[in-house]
Amino acid sequence: MSSPFRIPDSLFLQLAQLTPSTEAEGPGRRFALWFQGCPLRCPGCCNPEMLPFDGGERLAVGDAARQIEEASRLHQIEGITLLGGEPLAHAAAAALARATHGLGLSVMVFTGYVLEDALQLPDPAVTELLNETDVLVDGPYLHAQPETRRRWVGSTNQRVHFLSGRCSADDPRWLLPNTLEIRLRGSELRVNGFPARSAVGLWKRPRVVATGERGASAP
Ligand code: SF4
Repeated sequence: MSSPFRIPDSLFLQLAQLTPSTEAEGPGRRFALWFQGCPLRCPGCCNPEMLPFDGGERLAVGDAARQIEEASRLHQIEGITLLGGEPLAHAAAAALARATHGLGLSVMVFTGYVLEDALQLPDPAVTELLNETDVLVDGPYLHAQPETRRRWVGSTNQRVHFLSGRCSADDPRWLLPNTLEIRLRGSELRVNGFPARSAVGLWKRPRVVATGERGASAP
């Protein structure tokens, strides 16, 4: 069946995880997708299990767009957030971002590249994704420099670029404290949001066991 979003059915996202509604990954409620695969190696990477390009699950971009549309209805999301892994290393991300804008929602992207380097990447899909990005948080995550002031930003070296007029630095929500979300679904505990050192062990443990001892999948 062809996609109502005019996305080729052959386009797939390689994902480590997604959540249809979170308030810990950008302004408002957002549909967040973590890509499986990153070519960078930030010292102290907060998501090492998302570094290999093998693994995770494939999801057709059209199916992801349908889930985003549903989340818009059910959760009144403001937009999507792409994390990783490295969104700029996944060509299908641009098509998803374009479909998201088609739904009237915003696109926020976390990348380990600084913007100046990202603009030099020869892959046209990177340029396309940047053109479809409203807010870009750039630069490697440095665990030795945790951010304590700016919400949704992991380390102090990272910059926030407002690449369109859709979101603004004046939004007071950027000044609220950083947050961590913990969800229990069936036998699985999921953690996402600010990579607080005190919570790192929590999301490295793979699953909850019946005794009530808790563990987690990747954020
Ligand atoms: S960009 Fe993200 S996933 Fe990649 S090495 Fe850096 S912190 Fe890890």
